[in-house]
Amino acid sequence: MQPITITLDGREVSGYAGMSILDLARESGVHITTLCHDEHLSPIGACRLCIVEDEKTGALMASCVTPLAPGMIIKTSSPRVVAHRKTLVQLMLSSHPDSCPVCDKGNRCQLRQVAGEMGVSLTEFQRIPQSAAIQEVNPFIERDLSKCILCAKCIRACQELVVEGVLDYFQRGFKTKPTTVGNLPLENSECTFCGTCVALCPTGALMEKGWANRRTTGNIVETTCPYCGCGCSVNLHVKSDRLVQATPRWGDTGNYSLLCVRGSYGYDFIHSPDRLTRPLVRMNGNMEETSWDEALKVVAAEFLRIKNEYGPDSIAILGSARCTNEESYLLQRFARCVIGTNNVDDGNRLYNAATLAGLSVSLGFPLSSHFLDVLEKSDVIMVIGADPTCSAPSVGYAIKRAVKKGSRLILIDPRRTKLSLFADLHLQLRPATDIALLNALAKVIIQENLLDKEFVSRRTDNFSSLTEALEPYSPEYAENITKVPSEQIVAAARLYAKARQASIVYGNGITQYCTGTDSVKALANLSMLTGNTGRKGGGMIGLQKECNSRGAVDMGMLPGFLPGFRNVTDIKARGKFEALWGANLPTRPGLTAVEIIEQAKLGKIKCLYVVGEDPIVSFPGTRVVRDALATLQFLVVQDLFLTETAKMAAVVLPVASFAEKDGSYTNFEGKINKIRQAIKPVGDSRPDWEITCTLADKMNTPFSYSRLDDIIGEIEEAIPGYEGYSDSTRRYQSYEGVTDAGRLQGVQLLRGFACFSPVKYQVPFKVKPKGYPFILLTGSSLPHTGTGTRSLRAPRLRKLSPSGFLQVGEADAKKFALQNGDKVKIISRAGEIMAPVSISNSLPKGILFMPSTFPEIPVNTLFEISLDPQSKTPASKACYVRIERMDAHE
Ligand code: SF4
Repeated sequence: MQPITITLDGREVSGYAGMSILDLARESGVHITTLCHDEHLSPIGACRLCIVEDEKTGALMASCVTPLAPGMIIKTSSPRVVAHRKTLVQLMLSSHPDSCPVCDKGNRCQLRQVAGEMGVSLTEFQRIPQSAAIQEVNPFIERDLSKCILCAKCIRACQELVVEGVLDYFQRGFKTKPTTVGNLPLENSECTFCGTCVALCPTGALMEKGWANRRTTGNIVETTCPYCGCGCSVNLHVKSDRLVQATPRWGDTGNYSLLCVRGSYGYDFIHSPDRLTRPLVRMNGNMEETSWDEALKVVAAEFLRIKNEYGPDSIAILGSARCTNEESYLLQRFARCVIGTNNVDDGNRLYNAATLAGLSVSLGFPLSSHFLDVLEKSDVIMVIGADPTCSAPSVGYAIKRAVKKGSRLILIDPRRTKLSLFADLHLQLRPATDIALLNALAKVIIQENLLDKEFVSRRTDNFSSLTEALEPYSPEYAENITKVPSEQIVAAARLYAKARQASIVYGNGITQYCTGTDSVKALANLSMLTGNTGRKGGGMIGLQKECNSRGAVDMGMLPGFLPGFRNVTDIKARGKFEALWGANLPTRPGLTAVEIIEQAKLGKIKCLYVVGEDPIVSFPGTRVVRDALATLQFLVVQDLFLTETAKMAAVVLPVASFAEKDGSYTNFEGKINKIRQAIKPVGDSRPDWEITCTLADKMNTPFSYSRLDDIIGEIEEAIPGYEGYSDSTRRYQSYEGVTDAGRLQGVQLLRGFACFSPVKYQVPFKVKPKGYPFILLTGSSLPHTGTGTRSLRAPRLRKLSPSGFLQVGEADAKKFALQNGDKVKIISRAGEIMAPVSISNSLPKGILFMPSTFPEIPVNTLFEISLDPQSKTPASKACYVRIERMDAHE
């Protein structure tokens, strides 16, 4: 590209075609004042404060929207330019309310800052009266559009970054204002309260509600959101050792500086009065507060007693993918070296294990390798079994942005989710028939010769077995099973296969069945057939539910794998860790999460140490889980709150939250993000890693770490890809040291090739029993994920979504004469629960939906325990139910 040279304030500088004067000025270190400009948004020249003068033509122009032209002689601060800028600011102030001294935006108002810089007072023009019309019914955002300067940052962010399209200009002339479609209150619009518009608003027009009481904070700490596996960067604002605000970290943070409602407003749980602040020990049936020393003495003594009496494998540890890398690393070391068992697993088993089991076989690599910015470059995206707009909003934003830029979207989901509005093809299959559908797509691709022959012949194995196994899966055969019209199946296969770069995004909607591993393999087959495996812009993303789902795997929180995903039966790998840890390690794989519960029920597991997990709420078969825990000789729970599981414990240990400690999380891309301490631990709570260290000490097997950095140093040494991670936030490297998602190289495929895995469609959950006509699907909602332990204690999120509900489709509601709010009993063969009805147009006939995040409506009661034989994931996505009205007439 030919450089374009201009004269800027007397200096020759060069840019390239399409570059604006403002961009070149900034690159050259010349400051030009702006109010409406943001590098993430398209420039619109609305405020015109960035005007510059071209000496040649005498023209004044907005530098943000004026491209470079050869030979321009630009002055950025000539007297004429400065005078015009002042006039512009005076005009803005003349239509701005005269309330600066009491405005909650205070010194952070950019209009006020600009006026101050230019020496412009408030009274130079006749004022246009503005009446404040504050809207603040919703729990998060206060709007006072009389303070709006029409910079359109909120509109552009909503349309270009979040792609929600809630905001736009309303009315014309003096009455113009940015508001929702139809000028509805935010709470009645499609607004998801991600907080982006508030973060970008330069004045006090859009403010976080309640900010008035917080004013300027002294301290801002850069850290990582603790909710989903997207791992968004967030700034925590601290005042008097309390978190008062969370804002997106603007800049090159990989998530376009966006957050969702959880990231922006979900941190309130930290100061919940429900927080555990002191260790509790059960005495005479009651939980009593005690000192750390006493509590840990009891735990250490019981662990040692049970280990000596029944052997180390009578003890199990259930961790959490919400713990930091350092805490997970330490916990699995504690299990293996101090207790002497591989019975160590975590909540990942419920939704991530199918990915590990499936991709290990297909690609020889246990995790999907794909990046958000690369996903956005795909020309076709297939989303299956996932609603990322709820479960992983940053991924949802990326998909919507991609579609806006021209990518084509194939959505495979029984429900009409938000993404269906963006989809070119929405295959609304019957629940749990994914494998039949995916096999049919593969068959069409092969039959129509749409496969990447070079990739298949040079880089894959087992192709002939795949073609043989696909024989019955004609589109018509698949239509019979899935109820997706065969033409749609053919169209989807063609669209996916003909893409230059096609990505697959999948979630719990396929992994939480007994056939979850086979579904992942079927997806990998598609990705390999088309050569998208590893191609830039192609590949697969398995969404990660928790903030450190991926890190927990890397750290070895698995009964069959040591850190770095090394098999516990691999003598060489074991030898490495035995040398590092100075201990003999157990040689047999341990029990997985649900197997631990089953073995506890049988009396074989005598002692359970639960760290950050709440199996009574999160595991299927609630009654079985309760019974199993009741049979234990000793149950210890380490958590933020007195969870349902903690209520049954002999000892409860209070832990510090993400904002009260240092460490790191690894997000779904493999990016290792730091978390940093912003406030002191609440009460007497302690970080998990400190508790584990003290416990090891008390069990006479002390670790040699005296501070967190010692653990970090060991992880850097022990786990490939984590070398030097303490120095910077950077991309993860695969276990073989590959630094990019580039076309697969031999080293990235651990075996040197990918392997097709033929899979057969089988009915994945029990055959429809008589009298249970509905299929109930479970999932998360935008405000609440997981077991709701944290988000339900964040008052603003709770206000947005206060209680659980049963979603019923319009047709079924009509048939059963149900109305919103009606109470119904939901009955399966395993149990029954009650919930109010919420009528939705997103569900086809015969399908119900219920969020699984409300402990007061324990949806897992409806499930029997049944495991995917390959991944040991318990099926908890769908079951057959019937509903009964709970009328006054009963
Ligand atoms: Fe937090 Fe996930 Fe929302 Fe990002 S997308 S702010 S990580 S919950």
